[in-house]
Amino acid sequence: MKRRDFCKLMAAGAAGLLAGGPLWPMLTEAKTNRAWWDWFCGQAPPRPPAFRVCDSHFHFYDFVQHTDGIPALIEAMDRNGVDHIMFSGMPLIKKWDRDAHQAPVYYLDNNGRTYWYSATDMLLARTLLDKVPEKERSRFHPFICGFNGTDLYAVEHVERMLDAYDGLWHGIGEVFGHRDDLTNMTFGETARGDHPALMKIYQLAGRLDLPVVLHNNVSSQGRPAELLYWPEVERAVGENPMTRFIWAHAGLSRHFEDIDQARYAARLGTLLEKHPNLHIDLSWMVFEDYIAPDPLAGPSKAWLDLIGSFPTRFMIGSDSIGRFSEEALTCADGRRDPRLMKYAFNIRKYHVLLERLRPAAARMVARDNFLDILPARVRKGLGREG
Ligand SMILES: [Zn+2]
Ligand SMILES: [Zn+2]
Repeated sequence: MKRRDFCKLMAAGAAGLLAGGPLWPMLTEAKTNRAWWDWFCGQAPPRPPAFRVCDSHFHFYDFVQHTDGIPALIEAMDRNGVDHIMFSGMPLIKKWDRDAHQAPVYYLDNNGRTYWYSATDMLLARTLLDKVPEKERSRFHPFICGFNGTDLYAVEHVERMLDAYDGLWHGIGEVFGHRDDLTNMTFGETARGDHPALMKIYQLAGRLDLPVVLHNNVSSQGRPAELLYWPEVERAVGENPMTRFIWAHAGLSRHFEDIDQARYAARLGTLLEKHPNLHIDLSWMVFEDYIAPDPLAGPSKAWLDLIGSFPTRFMIGSDSIGRFSEEALTCADGRRDPRLMKYAFNIRKYHVLLERLRPAAARMVARDNFLDILPARVRKGLGREG
């Protein structure tokens, strides 16, 4: 950068600070995948969505257990073609430390720690029973997630929830095993996909016909290409053949650029071939960062081939956390700001995949696969027997 341009940039930043505005909008914009942003500007609401979908990975609460609430969620679902939603809370809560300079919202906002927060399940159940209008109820599929997956008593929390809200729950998850920095921030023992406490929960899930959404990063940030935690997932899935698993984000996470996506997709193919009880969700930044970094080109050939070869085994989800209102969408210049339309973006981004699949496969990935992993009693209620 030339010295004159550098000075100009610094002056703009300083002006922002002097005006009381934070520097972050400039930084966030620089980090945003510009191609995806441009693509989304042409696809955003109120433009009608091109596909009907199920949001198979969703959190009603964020990392401080805040939420925009049910009316905003139903509006967001309706505007973006979401017929059904996996409805879960957030198993961890971020502590607001006395010394924090400002109140944290996301787990990465500061160095404060997180702890397991079981109340999320009761809050979610009460919300479903009290706040979701009767005519919308069948679109919501509640999952239990508020347990510490390193506690051998965790399965008893699941049993208590099943007992307290008999017949309400449709699944378990998102279960947090190995994560990114979140693992380091969480008090206590490190969670892992095949922890004995989780194995008990998987067995219960298999007996009760409940699907399990598992987040277990395939490796650690420092050694991504070694796929250190792959064996944990293989063991969890292999030792519980009667349990239907959804491996969240295909095991990928931030800082995994060293993983060769073509080889990884091939390896996932062998895992899917071997374990018919395994499904994969493509949610989070994983989709736009690794699977389809160029929205105009669509997903890479390796991923497209993998999904096309196993069309009944993949699903999509927003992985939105607590915020889905579209109220704050308009920029000062009158344009909508796609960075704030997170729910819409995190549903519509999959259109670049769906439009490249055969129509029957697109329908499965977009919608049917999620409905088909739900308990038989739920499928029956939806008229999806067999
Ligand atoms: Zn996750
Ligand atoms: Zn999630």
